[in-house]
This record gives sequence, structure tokens and C-alpha cells, in this order.
Amino acid sequence: MEDYGIFGDIVVFDTTYRTNRYNLICAPIVGINNHWNNCMFGCAFIGDEKIESFVWLLQTFTKSMGGKSPISIFTDQDAAMNNATNQVFPDSRHRLCVWHLHQNAITGFGAFKQDPTFKKTFNYCLYKCVTVVEFETNWRSILQQYEWEEWFTNVYDLREKWCHALSKDFFSAGILSSQRSESTNHAIGYRANRTTSLTDFYRLFKGTIQRWRSTEKQAEFSCSKSVASSALPLSGLLKHASEVYTLSLFRDFEEEFEYSIATTAKLIWKQGNTEFYDVSIDEEPWSAQRVTYIHESQTVSCTCKNFEASGWLCYHCIRILHLHSVNRIPEQYIKKRWTKSAKSSVWNKLENEKPEEVQYTYTLAPNHG
Ligand SMILES: [Zn+2]
Repeated sequence: MEDYGIFGDIVVFDTTYRTNRYNLICAPIVGINNHWNNCMFGCAFIGDEKIESFVWLLQTFTKSMGGKSPISIFTDQDAAMNNATNQVFPDSRHRLCVWHLHQNAITGFGAFKQDPTFKKTFNYCLYKCVTVVEFETNWRSILQQYEWEEWFTNVYDLREKWCHALSKDFFSAGILSSQRSESTNHAIGYRANRTTSLTDFYRLFKGTIQRWRSTEKQAEFSCSKSVASSALPLSGLLKHASEVYTLSLFRDFEEEFEYSIATTAKLIWKQGNTEFYDVSIDEEPWSAQRVTYIHESQTVSCTCKNFEASGWLCYHCIRILHLHSVNRIPEQYIKKRWTKSAKSSVWNKLENEKPEEVQYTYTLAPNHG
């Protein structure tokens, strides 16, 4: 519950496990912490994949978590789940796990796996496209080359749920634009099979949680004790980033920073205190994004919407801040969930509490005994 309070903006809900003796569907409900590691919010067993079952499950989950809805909920490709999500979380954005699309493509079109051009273009469409034009052009080239396949049509129809270029206005922790979704999905990775009993599962599940928590502790420790290293001089914005962000997030910021060095910024016009720039990477005019900058408040916004979608500034914004000699990341662009101190209040609280047995809460669906 503590984790959900901090990292519950993103929920990954996976119903692809069907791996125990009673043929129950195991549905782990997973989040991403400030180190880009998984954290477990809960786990459910359901007997079927009907809309009512998913509605019950999501309602029970929200109730147990104090009523907070996620901003984005990622699920595998399932119409019933989509329906239930829309009913229970009307204000949240339902998205499809890109990782599952990737897996489905490999399963469905095994031959393509050997084809490096297909792989490259398809992965580019899944993870890399920044603009709609870019996405449409790449997708069309797949269709032209590999003939019209029904699967591609279906996936294309759902593009707003998975394409990074089309989903930039909602926070998704950057999952849509990142291959990191691979580690988030397939989260439990437990070696269960059809003969695994519920007790076996419980042991595996507990082991997974213990492993995750120990990884988290190590990451928190490293972040509190070590200073990020960089090939670039640690000064200004980069230094500030190394102070506030976890080591993992610092790498994301550093990558944007590196890109920002390669950009060209052109002042387009000025209106009062507001300046409008076009920022692009040389020789790639399609990459130009419009950045708006307001002096007094150090407000910076970009048409690529990386901050809105991922929670850290894009290289376009970094370029403009740099141009204005801003050497600290303006406070409004440091998302607490990505900082070293994201969980500090929880750790402090735990330190003051006596250690006690973890309480697990079980809720049974009506008519399920
Ligand atoms: Zn940008």
C-alpha cells in the first residue's frame, strides 16, 4: 500500500499466466519504483476472463488501496480487460503492453524473427517513433513489404493504446517509449507450471517479493552512498540531476543531456517574456520540436511532451534551459517518484515502527466460496 501510494500512477496488470493445477488465471498487479524496478501491489487469482470478474477484481484492488486510481493501466491485449478498466477507472488511460504486442508478433510471424529489416522497423514502430508522421510512414512500409495481415490491421486500430507518438499527453512513466517494458512484464518470472499448487505458488510469489525488496534496498543504499559517474563534466543541470535522481533515472537524464548537445536551437519569435524555439537534431529536420520558454518562472514546454509522458525533461527542453544558463532543473520538472527521496517518508516511518509480520489481505469474489 505504501508503494502504491507513491508509485501507483502506473499499474501493469498481466493476465497471461495460467499456470497452476486448478487452471486459475494468476494476475499479478505490478508497479515501477524510482529505480526502474518492479514493485508488487497485489496478486489475484480469477477463475475466468469475463468482464464481471475483471470489474470485481479491479474494484476490490482499488478498495484495498484506499480508492486511488492509476493514471495509466497497462494490460495485455484483451477486450474484456479493456472493458473492465474503462468501467472501474474511467479517468485512467488504458494502454496495451508493447511487450505483449512484440511477443504476439514473434509468435504469430515466427519467420519475421529472422528478418532483420522487419525486426528493425517493427521495433521502431513499437518503441521509438516520436511523431505521428514518423509512425505512419514506418507502419505503412511494413504493410507494403509484408502484405496485408489481419493481425497488423487489428493492432493498428488499437494504435492509440500503445503508440508512443499518439499517447504523449498522459503519464506512462516512459514505458511506451522504452524497451524497459520487457522487464516490467513477465514480471514474476516464476517457474510455475500446470502442476504447481497454490501453496507452491505462494512460496514462489513470496520469494519473488523478497527478491524485489532486497534489490530495492540495495538500490536505495547505492543511491544514498554513491555519486553518479559520467563521461561528461558533472556540473550545472547534470550535477543537479545526479543529486536528485536515482542512479537509474540519472542515466535517462544524462542520455537526454547528451542528445541536447547535438541539437540546433532557433529562436522563432518572442512575445513579452515568452520565447518560442525550434530545436532539432542536425540533418534530421523531421525531428524539430517547438519549445516554449518563459523567463521569470523558468517554464519550459515541448511539443514532444516527454515530460508529460515520462516525467523527466527531454533534450529539447534541456537545450533551451542550457541556452539560458539555467543550471538547476526547475523544481516543477522534478517528479518526486523518480527521485532518491521518493520513499524517504516510508523509510522514516518504518524506522520508527517496531518490526512486525507483514499483513496479507485476502478477498474472495462472491460465489467463489
Ligand atoms: Zn521535447
